[in-house]
Amino acid sequence: MNVSFLGLGAIGAPMARHLAKPPHSLTVWNRTADRARAFGTETGARVAATPAEAARGADVVITCLPTSAEVEALLDGDDGILAGLAPNTLFIDCTSGDPATSKRIARRLADRSVAFMDAPVSGGVSGAQQGTLTVMCGADDATFERARPVLDAFGKKLVLCGAVGAGDAVKAVNQALLGVHIWALSEGLVALSKAGISPRLALDVINASSGRSNVSQNLFTERVITRAFPRTFKLALLEKDVTIAAEFARENRVPSPLTQSVADLLRVARHELGEEADHVEAVKLIEQWAACEVTG
Ligand code: NDP
Repeated sequence: MNVSFLGLGAIGAPMARHLAKPPHSLTVWNRTADRARAFGTETGARVAATPAEAARGADVVITCLPTSAEVEALLDGDDGILAGLAPNTLFIDCTSGDPATSKRIARRLADRSVAFMDAPVSGGVSGAQQGTLTVMCGADDATFERARPVLDAFGKKLVLCGAVGAGDAVKAVNQALLGVHIWALSEGLVALSKAGISPRLALDVINASSGRSNVSQNLFTERVITRAFPRTFKLALLEKDVTIAAEFARENRVPSPLTQSVADLLRVARHELGEEADHVEAVKLIEQWAACEVTG
């Protein structure tokens, strides 16, 4: 199977690495060509000079870019994906995208007899490295079955969530929960710290109680109170995801004041902390407001 992977970012690169071995034959493209060249040297993957060149001869094209907008933009032009895409290719978008744009992309590709699937992932960079990602798919049954051998390379739990856009929607709701947990735990731990109560002790209690979550059990324990703050998933991308969740609720006429509030707060945090900040660094904004650091 000739697989082309476009977008070798924090999660894309470790996902693509699993495809750089038999039975797959991998071609990669990345906007910053140096990253693609380094990946090619490391893995033996063929490096394409343009998205069109990457798509040419591919059985499966995979994209993993920040948002659906970048994926759609990459389709067009002399060097764009469509210029190289043959009928009957399978297009899998692993971007955490938005359902409306994914549906539009699917319609455009269907005109060329190319099947599309939204397939955002969860499990973080470590899950990508270990090949244990959860993959949330939006497609018809036949497309899902066609994609399975490729998704198996980096995914452990592959779920067909519904028609095109359904994978994006489930992913966005998951991310809204991540955002809510980060924000609520940040407020709580900063308040406890300011009152002189150890955040390490508080986390120990919470992690044995009903308020625990992945955020309390892993992210805050390993990254916040240690002040390690590794940069694995951008705050800007979480803000994008929670905004998609709020928009999705609105489109379906479901009031979502909590999701919208967290989206707004994350937008402020993104503005204050910058485009390169990690999602967990959102706590730093509350620390600044309160003039108190969570450290243990
Ligand atoms: P990064 O910011 O690390 O990487 C983004 C990738 O997209 C890079 O390859 C970048 O190229 C490329 N890119 C950015 N803008 C454009 C553009 N205009 N045209 C072409 N290529 C572009 O993001 P991640 O890898 O972290 O995330 C990718 C997707 O996966 C996002 O939708 C994110 O929400 C999702 N995701 C990320 C997770 C994580 O833990 N990081 C976990 C689960 C999902 P360049 O090298 O030139 O900058």
